[in-house]
Amino acid sequence: MPEPYDPELGGPAEPKPYDPELGGPAEPKPYAPDELRALDRAHVWHPYGPMPGRQEPLVVESASGVRLRLAEPVDGQRELVDGMSSWWSAVHGYNHPVLNEAARGQLDRMSHVMFGGLTHEPAVRLATRLVEITPEPLQHVFLADSGSVSVEVAVKMCLQYWRSAGRPEKRRLLTWRGGYHGDTWQPMSVCDPDGGMHELWSGALPRQVFADAPPDGFDAEPDPAYVTHLRELIAAHADEVAAVIVEPVVQGAGGMRFHSPAYLRVLREACDELDVLLVFDEIATGFGRTGKLFAAGHAGVSPDVMCVGKALTGGYLTMAATLCTSRVAEGISRGEVPVLAHGPTFMGNPLAAAIASASVDLLLGQDWEGEVARIGAGLRSGLAAASEIPGVVDVRVLGAIGVVQLDHEVDMAAATRAAVREGVWLRPFRDLVYTMPPYVTGDDDVRRICRAVCAAAREG
Ligand SMILES: *Cc1c(COP(=O)(O)O)cnc(C)c1O
Repeated sequence: MPEPYDPELGGPAEPKPYDPELGGPAEPKPYAPDELRALDRAHVWHPYGPMPGRQEPLVVESASGVRLRLAEPVDGQRELVDGMSSWWSAVHGYNHPVLNEAARGQLDRMSHVMFGGLTHEPAVRLATRLVEITPEPLQHVFLADSGSVSVEVAVKMCLQYWRSAGRPEKRRLLTWRGGYHGDTWQPMSVCDPDGGMHELWSGALPRQVFADAPPDGFDAEPDPAYVTHLRELIAAHADEVAAVIVEPVVQGAGGMRFHSPAYLRVLREACDELDVLLVFDEIATGFGRTGKLFAAGHAGVSPDVMCVGKALTGGYLTMAATLCTSRVAEGISRGEVPVLAHGPTFMGNPLAAAIASASVDLLLGQDWEGEVARIGAGLRSGLAAASEIPGVVDVRVLGAIGVVQLDHEVDMAAATRAAVREGVWLRPFRDLVYTMPPYVTGDDDVRRICRAVCAAAREG
């Protein structure tokens, strides 16, 4: 076997030491933080980032409970309370013994096998569990490998349903502005078309039908003019629209806005009346984040297709799922091509599925509603002071989500730095400083997160 070539040496680099017990190379020597950052800048893309990178990312060495441990102290802080749950996924915190055990147990059996022609207990158990805990009409589960892919699958299901029904012209989507559904092509086409991060692509994307953004306020009385607007728009496009797709109750990455659940009932009624399918993207809202297990529960309605992701695996591994009703599945199966032609390599990944089942059981085995309500109350009292900060235009809390909105684009570097000085990890965006803490965050740490949000709002 050739040795790796080292251009500086002009010959083979020193071979990695062989570990006879492992039967392979031993663990590589760790990088010094400076070295790691230099290689990171040179070679590694980060989310929504330039190449080479301009901001210095913090180097995380490990994570446990609600704390991220940095490789070296920053502003005197070696550990940061995570106010982001790693983009809303790590609801149980890090290094959780139950999830670790689920991972270890599955790792010793198999970490992956293909899903074509084979099946296994972790995937079947998870799918069955998801059918049990989601609204009753949702009966069939497609296990996808990320949230964006689960949205692609949802769109494919809806378009194919109408194709199979002899109405292939129903292939557009309708959504309201201000949404976010992922970064792959179809999901981008239903993200907010203006001001969102995908504006650049508006000319290249499939042209979808956009309603105005839903009026603000979870508790606000539904606006009759907006209800009419929704109904009329769906009616006007019913012949060409396959599905309405929305994030129920909370629009997340599109602006952290909350709306009345009443609009979801309006969508359900209009879709039923006008032969349009309804998709709820619960990737951000699922698994208790808004105070209900799924945000659809606030409205008491059930979609035809539903996407879940993010917190599905407790933040351990990438996995998402698209659920659909028997009507949708049977419709697809009646078609000229009676299959759903989608099958990612890592579909149903056993390791992710085993952890996801353990995460769901861990959630449902505790008073998660109480914990989310407790964090919500902590955020409400801790963030009340933020409304006095110059430049703050709104402070809002729903479930375990706290949002401070500014009248200007936040200076991300300054805001992040201010939070780090308080010992907290936050990742503000646009005009928003917000937090979605893990559900296991203690009251003291919730208070600390609130201080950090206020500091970030003040200095960002
Ligand atoms: C994060 C998110 C997605 C995309 O999920 P990825 O796993 O990042 O692809 C889609 N929809 C919503 C509502 C999300 O919050």
